[in-house]
Amino acid sequence: MAHDIQQSCEQNPTSWVYSAVQGMSDEMQTPLLADTEAPDDPSLLTPGRPTVAILGSGDFSRSLAVRLVACGVSVVVGSRCVKRIAPGLFPHAVELRNQEGAVARADRLVFLALFPEYYPSLQGLRALLAGKVLVDVSNAVELGSSAVSNAERLAEMFPESVVVKGFNVISAWTLQTGAQDGNRQVLLCSDSVEGKSEVAQLTRRMGFQPVDLGGLCLARDLESVPLRLFPSWRGPVLTTFLLFLFFYGYGFIRGLLLPYLAYGRNAFFRLALDLVNESLPAVALVTLALVYLPGLFAAWLQLWRGTKYQRFPCWLDVWLLRRKQLGLLSFYCAGLHGVYSLCLPLRTAARHRLINAAYTQVKAGVEEPWDELGVWRSDLYLSFGVLGLGVLSLLAITSLPAVGNILTWREFTFVQSGLGYAALTLSVMHTLVFGWDFAFSPKAYTFYMPPSYMIAVALPCAVLVCRCFLLLPCVSARLTRIRRGWESTRKCPIPQHHHGVGNRTLPEV
Ligand code: NAP
Repeated sequence: MAHDIQQSCEQNPTSWVYSAVQGMSDEMQTPLLADTEAPDDPSLLTPGRPTVAILGSGDFSRSLAVRLVACGVSVVVGSRCVKRIAPGLFPHAVELRNQEGAVARADRLVFLALFPEYYPSLQGLRALLAGKVLVDVSNAVELGSSAVSNAERLAEMFPESVVVKGFNVISAWTLQTGAQDGNRQVLLCSDSVEGKSEVAQLTRRMGFQPVDLGGLCLARDLESVPLRLFPSWRGPVLTTFLLFLFFYGYGFIRGLLLPYLAYGRNAFFRLALDLVNESLPAVALVTLALVYLPGLFAAWLQLWRGTKYQRFPCWLDVWLLRRKQLGLLSFYCAGLHGVYSLCLPLRTAARHRLINAAYTQVKAGVEEPWDELGVWRSDLYLSFGVLGLGVLSLLAITSLPAVGNILTWREFTFVQSGLGYAALTLSVMHTLVFGWDFAFSPKAYTFYMPPSYMIAVALPCAVLVCRCFLLLPCVSARLTRIRRGWESTRKCPIPQHHHGVGNRTLPEV
């Protein structure tokens, strides 16, 4: 969200951030710290306080000035045309000068709150900027550009100054509202340790958390951070979407199109709700299986290689890193399936069928027989489904950083692995009990196509079987040894003295 706000501010400098500053309460215009009250008259600025210059008088400059003043820092804003700045836009404590005047007043730090295209226009200030720390807050224009970063270009333009890249991931909005209401981290990079440490000190003073990324060569990555669009979600969302398309398309061909072509049976009304509700649980089940499949691949690979010191293939690394997203998407589909299922009796088609069936039976004087097995079946599959969704909700909650961070490693593993497999087992049971003995009936294979839930349950069943195999004592003991650093003699010619529990050497499988 912060990025959206930032983008909207960048696209429209006279946006609501601007109005927010104008409508700022009086408290925001004066320092928060009692011992560092900002005087109304800029000429009375306390000499002991650091003076920071900001070049540019746009959205970012205003928000930065507000925050700095609130933290007891003397601020001088350098503009190309001071007269153009509307009175009251900046807090009273902020000194407004031309660019030369502002740079001359700065102790060390000069923030460049202007777009990088205009950096060359600062060449005239080169002598004044010598020895100063220039903080480059700019962002990249487009993702994946191979051009040199703005910060590196700035360092080339002003070789006598120190350039620190930072604050570009903090929006003008976050600067104004304060660190508690948004992203607290300020990512910094520079080739000068001293310059970086000065900026880090100021960052801390402003209530943010500086994160040192390293040298200026990382500026390009840092500049593209605000432009990224859910990079870790792209693969999982695409996978889930393709799975949905597959199950929806399959259900459409098997349940609607072929019966229509073969028997002229029109059931296309099922497209809107029934078919979606049939596809969602299938997607949820397969996606949940995809969460645990890479872990099994990794375990098998380690067992086969006899070492954990060989890197996994790239695709497996990426897959392992996307398990959280896949799990959350599975939870999302399962949740939607729950809501859709609750809506089923509300449909006109369902009511029509029920009333019609009742009427036909009343007319014929036939009573609906009590089907003990059917009752058990429906109660069981509903119960498995609700329990599965409940456990999945727990997994989703613990994947939140605020919750996950307070769990110990063992608690986290118990929830994500133990409860995760419990959720998968319950979901598989929900599907199997729903199917009951239908799999053995020829009616299940209309047009030689099994129902979608039968296809969906295959992968999760395979995952559960493989997991059970890994739990066999001889296999799990070997895997545990490998994960604690033991290597098979095939891989490691150095003699190893590895003792199992009670000094028993565990057998090789
Ligand atoms: P802005 O509102 O358009 O302000 C840019 C300022 O640059 C203007 O107010 C102007 O100040 C100065 N300027 C304009 N044209 C110029 C020129 N030809 N030569 C020299 N100076 C010129 O933009 P902004 O939103 O504050 O963004 C400024 C920088 O901060 C950008 O690099 C942006 O990527 C970065 N940033 C912004 C945000 C945000 O939320 N807005 C967040 C992170 C980073 P004077 O007329 O007073 O000289």
